[in-house]
Amino acid sequence: MSDNKPTTNWDYTVDILVVGSGGGAMAAALCAHDRGAKTLVIEKDEYYGGSTAMSGGALWIPNNHLMEEAGVKDTPEESLEYLKHTTQGQVPEERLHAYVKYAPEMVKYFCEHSRLELQALPEYSDYYPEAPGGKPGARTIEPINFDARQLGDEFLRMREPALQTLIMKRIAMTAKQGHVLLTRSPGWGQLTFKLMAGYWFDWGGRFKSKRDRNLGLGNALIGMLRLSLMERDVSLWLKTSAQELILEEGRVVGVLAKREDEVVRIRAEKGVILGAGGFESNDEMRKKYLPNPTQAEWTCGSPCNTGDAILMGIEVGAALEWMDDAWWGPTTVVPGEECARMLVVEKSLPGCVFVDKRGERFVDEAAPYIDIVNAMYKRHSPEAPCVPAHMVFDATYRKKYPCGPFLQSSQQPDWRLPKEFKEGYLKKDKTVAGLAEQMGIDAKGLEATIQKMNEYARTGKDLDYQKGDSLYDRYYGDPNVKPNPCLAPIETPPFYGLQIEAGDLGTKGGLKTDANARVLNEAGEAIPGLYAIGNCSGSVTGRTYPGAGSTIGPAMTFGYIAVLDAIPT
Ligand SMILES: Cc1cc2nc3c(=O)[nH]c(=O)nc-3n(C[C@H](O)[C@H](O)[C@H](O)COP(=O)(O)OP(=O)(O)OC[C@H]3O[C@@H](n4cnc5c(N)ncnc54)[C@H](O)[C@@H]3O)c2cc1C
Repeated sequence: MSDNKPTTNWDYTVDILVVGSGGGAMAAALCAHDRGAKTLVIEKDEYYGGSTAMSGGALWIPNNHLMEEAGVKDTPEESLEYLKHTTQGQVPEERLHAYVKYAPEMVKYFCEHSRLELQALPEYSDYYPEAPGGKPGARTIEPINFDARQLGDEFLRMREPALQTLIMKRIAMTAKQGHVLLTRSPGWGQLTFKLMAGYWFDWGGRFKSKRDRNLGLGNALIGMLRLSLMERDVSLWLKTSAQELILEEGRVVGVLAKREDEVVRIRAEKGVILGAGGFESNDEMRKKYLPNPTQAEWTCGSPCNTGDAILMGIEVGAALEWMDDAWWGPTTVVPGEECARMLVVEKSLPGCVFVDKRGERFVDEAAPYIDIVNAMYKRHSPEAPCVPAHMVFDATYRKKYPCGPFLQSSQQPDWRLPKEFKEGYLKKDKTVAGLAEQMGIDAKGLEATIQKMNEYARTGKDLDYQKGDSLYDRYYGDPNVKPNPCLAPIETPPFYGLQIEAGDLGTKGGLKTDANARVLNEAGEAIPGLYAIGNCSGSVTGRTYPGAGSTIGPAMTFGYIAVLDAIPT
């Protein structure tokens, strides 16, 4: 209830109330506690962690303290140059400055004062490494493995990892390990054995659930943050949904929430920090704000991210930005799975192509995933539909590489695929024309495209879209394939096809904020007492995706900044 009269019937009073329990929210709660604030975290879901727990757990932190050790030099000036170039003047400079200043400080603070343990990924380049100020690696950092036994029973209340981040839907790894396995770098066999054995011989874990207790990626990040909160005795209420912001004389002083079946009023003396995710799982909001066609089932994000914080902000007069944008990426909707899977790695591997309904290419398949969906929408028209698009590959690709829900056919031949995959989900034919007919795309167009792709594979030069030219493209390529690790002929039958959706990892538009994470009204003034971070706020990177970790890095950084503003020393 946005009521201007002073309210006295509070059920609980804290200094800082954090709404949501993703990475940004937990970082804010930790920092608030460390600055002496009585802090409460409320989470609508029966699990904590949100999309952050499901994610790759990477943080994009320019000029972070782990870079030097990883052999990559960075400076605040280069970081700013890169951000200014990639955001193309669309983001106020003071927000970019704040990010460049506080992101490394935030990471160092948590590495020194909490359970957070991170490692740099020296080969994981920025997404536009050739742009001014771009780096070949190490701005992306990730959590090391985390032993879930430290959380006790609280572990099973953490949202599970996205299936696409696990080996065989079960076994966790870090991004560093994942890259060793993908590229079959020295030691990959031993590593496979270690991960498998670690899982199967964890008898205590196997007795309790299917979940791997050797956490990696987003689960590791959330595990570390959750443990740090538990050690500080910061309360986290699950199944507690914020529903309205409460105003007193223009200041946000608390929240009306539903805790299971009970309505509670929580007063927050020093501020309410909204970290309640985007609106990716709200079909109505998607259709209203995002480019159409769009559907909630195309997202990989948490089903609980339904834009609640954005709607609450609108009620108290907040301005919005970037509402027509998302952390886009090509996804596949797998029968029987709760969330869509994004094709992050598969599209860079050699021997596949993305086409529209005319069977024509429209993008460098290995480009950053945000660029793929932007290209899909740009191309899409009633005459030349490109939403959905289609991925085509051949038997060699299928034999060598995992793709979406399948392991490579050398390990999971077609006859071992579940029935529902063979009945409509994965299309297969012994000729390109037959496959095109099954997929409802133009056969002549597809044949011509594949002929061209095969020529590019032989010369190593994609003359249309430059697949494999960028250092980023090659990160997920196959280094054993020459001359271009992202290109191989598509010529060995049978041929396969998957439908590709205009999906996302979450939305990136939301409440407009300033460099201190304060929510702004239409007049550009801060609404006192209200902060927004993560995907319920407009992204600090505007419409771009500078590198892996560009959503959780800013969410945690602005969580930290919000607290510095709410509780100045
Ligand atoms: C498979 C996958 C891989 C990804 N990999 C990466 C990566 O490596 N690096 C990266 O930066 N990003 C990655 N992303 C994207 C990233 O996970 C999200 O953009 C990010 O976690 C969003 O953070 P958030 O804090 O805004 O929201 P979330 O982490 O989703 O947290 C929001 C929380 O708020 C809760 N909530 C919603 N409404 C309410 C309410 N009314 N009251 C109380 N609580 C509420 C939700 O239940 C949720 O738990 C990935 C995403 C996916 C799905």
